[in-house]
Amino acid sequence: MEKLTISAIKADIGAVGGHTKPSKEVLEEVIKTVKSNKDIIEDFYVGFCGDDIHIIMTHFNGINNPKVHKIAFDAFLNATEIAKNQGLYGAGQDILKTAFSGNIKGMGPGIAEMEFVERPNEAVIVFPADKTEPGAFNLPLYYAFIEVSRSPGLILSPSMRKGVKFVIMDVSYTEKDKIIELYTPENYIDIASLLFNPHRFVVESIWLRENNEPIVSVSTTRLHNIAGRYVGKDDPIMIVRAQKPFLATEEICSVFAIAHYVGGDTRGSHNMALMPVKLNSQASTYLCNPMVSCIVMSIKNGKITSYIDGFDDPIFDEIRRKASEKSFYMREQGFIMPAMLPMEEIEYTALKEKIEELEKKFTTR
Ligand SMILES: [Mg+2]
Repeated sequence: MEKLTISAIKADIGAVGGHTKPSKEVLEEVIKTVKSNKDIIEDFYVGFCGDDIHIIMTHFNGINNPKVHKIAFDAFLNATEIAKNQGLYGAGQDILKTAFSGNIKGMGPGIAEMEFVERPNEAVIVFPADKTEPGAFNLPLYYAFIEVSRSPGLILSPSMRKGVKFVIMDVSYTEKDKIIELYTPENYIDIASLLFNPHRFVVESIWLRENNEPIVSVSTTRLHNIAGRYVGKDDPIMIVRAQKPFLATEEICSVFAIAHYVGGDTRGSHNMALMPVKLNSQASTYLCNPMVSCIVMSIKNGKITSYIDGFDDPIFDEIRRKASEKSFYMREQGFIMPAMLPMEEIEYTALKEKIEELEKKFTTR
């Protein structure tokens, strides 16, 4: 059976009047470029979450395919020209290299990919997020794939009962991808011990233990590792396969009801509550509250036959209120940690340099 690949590629190439959302013209240009390459791919979906544009492509070319990666890269590059002409803020900010070298990894845009034999009713959920980092998915994934009290499928599904493999990446290591493979149920304390630090250890993928089928894929780019300087947080995107033999769609989406605190927000330097938002939401001008959106789709013969907005229902209106409240509470304490991230995660150097200068003036008595 031919394997289908889903490639979800995202980039911030400029937004209106700050880090808000892309312009209509920029989006149209992205769609135009992707459409003109329809001979390479089966189908596509383009949208945005805050200032990040995501291109989701289905195709039969496998993961890390240069032709497919180039479609996204060209789309972002062409649209960057429009963003520059419109004076959009941060035009081309995630395009760190302009000469395409065969793989979009390491060039700036974030990418999550997954390859599998399509089920008769393939249910796939894509979660694009903004104003946060890939480790933002650590806690939701822990709850969905390890914590039985939040995820009934872990005891009700015969396949899920056999456990999963977590592939966790140490994103502090910059030379190569450095990963560890751990298995549920027996390694769950070790998994938790790593997920504890979402700035360093990030779930890269999850696989069904029973047959090694891929279930989850998360973009794990660290932009500052590529650029060598702060160029914005690494707003992530995640692909999850749902329904039999995996978890139910609602078991996966409901773990975002925690609205847990994640790193990101203004200047990528704060902790605020991750808010599940509707598709194509602009970023909040309230200190760039972190956000995640949810595209729930059906795929048949490689085509995205239909999709719904996974966070567009009254329950998630309540979660949005809860997230607002949690963020307000955190912001009440201004710049004092944990409202602001620890120094090693603040990627502006001015504060660090000033502290180093003041350290020299300390005296002992
Ligand atoms: Mg962004």
